[in-house]
Amino acid sequence: MANRIEFSEHSEGLPCKECGFSTLRVASIVGDDGSVVGRTVVCTSCHQSRHRAAEAA
Ligand SMILES: [Zn+2]
Repeated sequence: MANRIEFSEHSEGLPCKECGFSTLRVASIVGDDGSVVGRTVVCTSCHQSRHRAAEAA
């Protein structure tokens, strides 16, 4: 079971509370069958430094 995240084409950059950059984007969580199972917000800046985020959590 490997859900993947799919960014909306029109997703605008929202200010991220973590890093302060406007790189927070709305994304859809897509399941194996291609159906959208949820939505989330992913910061592309924080996502690149997920190790640091993991330590913080
Ligand atoms: Zn961020």
